[in-house]
Amino acid sequence: MQLKLLWDLQELDLSIAALTEEIENTPLRESVREAGEMAESLKTETEGEENRLKELRRKLKNLELDLLKKSSEREALHKKLYGGEVGNIKELEQMEKKLNFLVKEQQALEEETLALMEAVEELERLLQGMHSRGAAQAQELLEKERQLEEQLAGLSETKERLQAERAALAGRIEPRWLERYNIMAQRHHGRGLARVVNDICEGCRVFISSAQRGFLYNPQALVYCESCGRLLIKSDRQNDGVEQ
Ligand SMILES: [Zn+2]
Repeated sequence: MQLKLLWDLQELDLSIAALTEEIENTPLRESVREAGEMAESLKTETEGEENRLKELRRKLKNLELDLLKKSSEREALHKKLYGGEVGNIKELEQMEKKLNFLVKEQQALEEETLALMEAVEELERLLQGMHSRGAAQAQELLEKERQLEEQLAGLSETKERLQAERAALAGRIEPRWLERYNIMAQRHHGRGLARVVNDICEGCRVFISSAQRGFLYNPQALVYCESCGRLLIKSDRQNDGVEQ
């Protein structure tokens, strides 16, 4: 009877250990970490492009100011040239040359401005896409975090229930048996008890001797596997529970 309780205790302990392992190493943790990293790198990339856009806009503003200056300079010269104030032919010729030069400069500036405006627009479109990708990634991260939290809550709840069951069960087992169980569990990585199914120790898959087989039918006897040293418990049926 006590052996059967010890077996149940071992089953509970193994389930609790498996749950603990699952809580610590659930793949969802990794997927949350990956989603977080993805969101972070997208954010960094977006910030880089935002800075680039700021810089382009600043350049564009300066260019527009230059253009304004150039244009008023040209207008003033144009006025002077055709205003009739200057009569000297040589001076007029020079002024005309300069005016032509200013016109060319203004055209070049205009072209540069247009190209920059296009670059700004393109970058704005790119950033729009990046922002929506970033929002989707943040949403995915939230969803994964929620799933992980939900899974962990479920696992913890089950673990607490099993731990309560274990405490109740341990309370029904005599201290000296518990002590034996603990020693055996420590020695065999939590599997100190092994069932004997069809005369084979399930702990090491080795046939037990006929002498041991005889002892197994004595409810008072403690029988240890001669091969692996585990405490043996009788089970007559394959893939079935331990005999009551
Ligand atoms: Zn064995």
